[in-house]
Amino acid sequence: MNSTETLRQAEAAIIGSGPAGLAAAIELRRQGVGPVIVIERENEAGGIPRHCAHPPFGMREYQRILSGPAYARRNVAAALKAGVVILLRHSVVSLEPGGLLRLASPEGPLTIQAQQVLIATGARETPRSARLLSGDRPVGVINTGALQNFLYVQRLKPFERPLIIGTELVSLSAVLSCRRAGIRPVAVLEANSRATARWPLSLFPRLLGIPLHLGAQLLAINGTGRVESATVRMADGEVREMPCDGVLLTGQFTPESSLVRLSHLQLDSGSGGPRIDQFGRCSDPAYFAAGNLLRPIETAGWSYREGRRIGALMALALRGQLPDAHDALSLKYAAPIKLGVPAQLVRGELPGLAHLQLRVSRAVSGTLRVSAQGKELWSRPVSALPERRLLIPLKELQLPAHIDQLDICID
Ligand SMILES: Cc1cc2nc3c(=O)[nH]c(=O)nc-3n(C[C@H](O)[C@H](O)[C@H](O)COP(=O)(O)OP(=O)(O)OC[C@H]3O[C@@H](n4cnc5c(N)ncnc54)[C@H](O)[C@@H]3O)c2cc1C
Repeated sequence: MNSTETLRQAEAAIIGSGPAGLAAAIELRRQGVGPVIVIERENEAGGIPRHCAHPPFGMREYQRILSGPAYARRNVAAALKAGVVILLRHSVVSLEPGGLLRLASPEGPLTIQAQQVLIATGARETPRSARLLSGDRPVGVINTGALQNFLYVQRLKPFERPLIIGTELVSLSAVLSCRRAGIRPVAVLEANSRATARWPLSLFPRLLGIPLHLGAQLLAINGTGRVESATVRMADGEVREMPCDGVLLTGQFTPESSLVRLSHLQLDSGSGGPRIDQFGRCSDPAYFAAGNLLRPIETAGWSYREGRRIGALMALALRGQLPDAHDALSLKYAAPIKLGVPAQLVRGELPGLAHLQLRVSRAVSGTLRVSAQGKELWSRPVSALPERRLLIPLKELQLPAHIDQLDICID
């Protein structure tokens, strides 16, 4: 630390003020932990729901159907009431061993030394640059997050006749946002032969009179200055030029894990988030993680409950009541399981997260099995689709002694 840098101390510091971060902060305060500092890089706290003007949010947390912004305001108010300190326009720029955080703040560099840190930085959609899309680089190619920010925060329309790529749940919410703002999408494209969102939601674009093309691939975006058209290969192989004034790239979520990638913490290659055990604890036990950083993606309600659970586990860790992380077994997930969280399990009876959370890379039906050294420990018939939640209740797994690995597959 140089002489101009300020140092603050906290019993717990939380990076990110989305549902997961605020729920953890409230729980930590409820358990008597303090000071609890939430660090948020934006001007306002609340995370992604601040931009989601549609319901339903908060049904389990507040027994009410709220819009995203109203839900975010409730979470922030509850955190402040609980005595949580929220630092806005403060960005964490590096995670150092033992809970030392380096921040950029409006007042200059700041260092926070926390006994424990929760990383709850959420997830984002894959931007154009990472989708390897060819063609020109015109204005008007954005993600749903940017669309919601344009419409609901800045009150601006980024386009009138966009082409929407993707059929995840968020894609359908993008269709709804467009329609509410008087924007008329020209079509929705899905590269796979079936929509990702569950039926009957997948019928939604067609019900609104918007053509839905399955098995259709975006080949290039064309336009000088603004988007003028998109080149698309249809399911039958025909290559078509579709006039449009924007392209909305939806879904394909990825954890916001840049901080973890640059740090000493182990990254999980499957999920793209930090490697955790069933207590949400990272490879440096001063760090925990919760929310959509762990696995893209879950709902706000799920992230809130997960944050609250991990907040309670952090309180146990502060009292020295979590078992040592060294006595852990690794979990090995076989394709088409593309990710599994947590990546390791510490032996013992203590309550941690309730489930192993899995995602598959393609539609699959079969038997989900957990085995060790060739012996089956648990199984269940499953029919799974990409981006859908697939869970194994941890309390149903009886872990034999003297094994170092669990194998999880669908056959
Ligand atoms: C475009 C989009 C639309 C969505 N729509 C819905 C929906 O309609 N309904 C629903 O249930 N879910 C929706 N989701 C899922 C959403 O991720 C969850 O609802 C929920 O917000 C996840 O909570 P979280 O706390 O994990 O993360 P987030 O809500 O994403 O919060 C993370 C916070 O961390 C902050 N942060 C990140 N890095 C730093 C840093 N280095 N320093 C300081 N602060 C940092 C961010 O600014 C952000 O405020 C959507 C997600 C996206 C991306």
